[in-house]
Amino acid sequence: MDERFSFNVQNMQISGIRRFYNKVSKYPDAISLTLGQPNFDVPLKIKNAMVKAITENKTQYTSNAGLIELRTEISKYLSRMKISYAPEEICITVGGSEGLMDVFQTLLNPNDKVLIPTPAYPAYESCVMMAGAKTINYLLNEDFSIDFDKLDKIINIENPKAIVVSYPSNPTGAVLTREDRDRLYEILKDKNIFIITDEMYSSICFKEYYSIAQMEKLKNKTIAIGGFSKIFSMTGLRIGYVCASEYIMKEIMKVHQYNVSCAPSISQYGAIEGLKYCEDDVKIMINEFVNRRNYIFERLTAMGIEVNKPEGAFYIFPNIKKFNFTSEEFSEKLLYEARLAVVPGSAFGVGGEGFIRISYAYSMDEINEGLNRFEKWIYDNR
Ligand code: PLP
Repeated sequence: MDERFSFNVQNMQISGIRRFYNKVSKYPDAISLTLGQPNFDVPLKIKNAMVKAITENKTQYTSNAGLIELRTEISKYLSRMKISYAPEEICITVGGSEGLMDVFQTLLNPNDKVLIPTPAYPAYESCVMMAGAKTINYLLNEDFSIDFDKLDKIINIENPKAIVVSYPSNPTGAVLTREDRDRLYEILKDKNIFIITDEMYSSICFKEYYSIAQMEKLKNKTIAIGGFSKIFSMTGLRIGYVCASEYIMKEIMKVHQYNVSCAPSISQYGAIEGLKYCEDDVKIMINEFVNRRNYIFERLTAMGIEVNKPEGAFYIFPNIKKFNFTSEEFSEKLLYEARLAVVPGSAFGVGGEGFIRISYAYSMDEINEGLNRFEKWIYDNR
């Protein structure tokens, strides 16, 4: 280890998603179905609200926790999903990413253990590493739901300080069912454990929405993270939020304040407008995601690929084990030979090996052409 740099940072890896995306950029003729950036424009009302905010010079710091009007709108939005947080229990962050980092920094001491599902969004493990703490993975069932017997055992053996719950899931598109929410509640209710629930895709759910944050009796140990990058297609505007009971929020606010002072003011005005007036734009996007999901699922199934039907987010996670390549080898071959870019499942942890992630945040034309290339490549490699 190089003593000039933090050991924790040196232990971290650049995200496998970005690493693969960088390879892809060397192939300009490749179709890329790699990133989680929806191909929609930011709704016009949001753009106009931001232009207005600039014109009116609303460019100063906001309060550390963010504009009260935005926190009030988020509180109302959450209550429609039967999740109850008052505006004072909400902090606006610089995307969900800052929210995640703040939460892990707030909770963890060196050598604390955090339970993280695998496969999962890679930032969790890196944030835990940055805090000098330790990741313990919990495995999922074949349909990417939680294996409750194993979870219960691992909590009893490892005594982790926190568990990450991540539905709707990036990379699998799985969502939490009512039954699974209730089973999770039963396991966690008597345990001394923080529950970090990442609900970045809460509004991109094709079924009724269930969340562990709906369980009032767990509220004093639950921290919910969300954001607007995906629902308003505003990834570059960087607005997310963290929700927690007051005694937890008091500590999170210190980390947030020294990290960023506040989230960007102009983007906060955009998000207020989005929550107040852009429900129809969101509906249009969700309908389109459902069409794409159906189309991809049918085509992959027709190609003989084993795949779960996702019920949320905009990713599908087919099983490629029968091809006898690692997911990295498979994705490289697909890129070099078929000029189709997807993300190797191993970028999402050990549980992602043997899978690839296809993002359908892209246009139907790109999806269609990508699947044509995939189909031809499979045919040529029979
Ligand atoms: N959580 C999950 C599950 C994600 O997929 C992402 C982004 O892809 C984030 C958090 C971070 O979101 P943001 O872009 O708002 O920082």
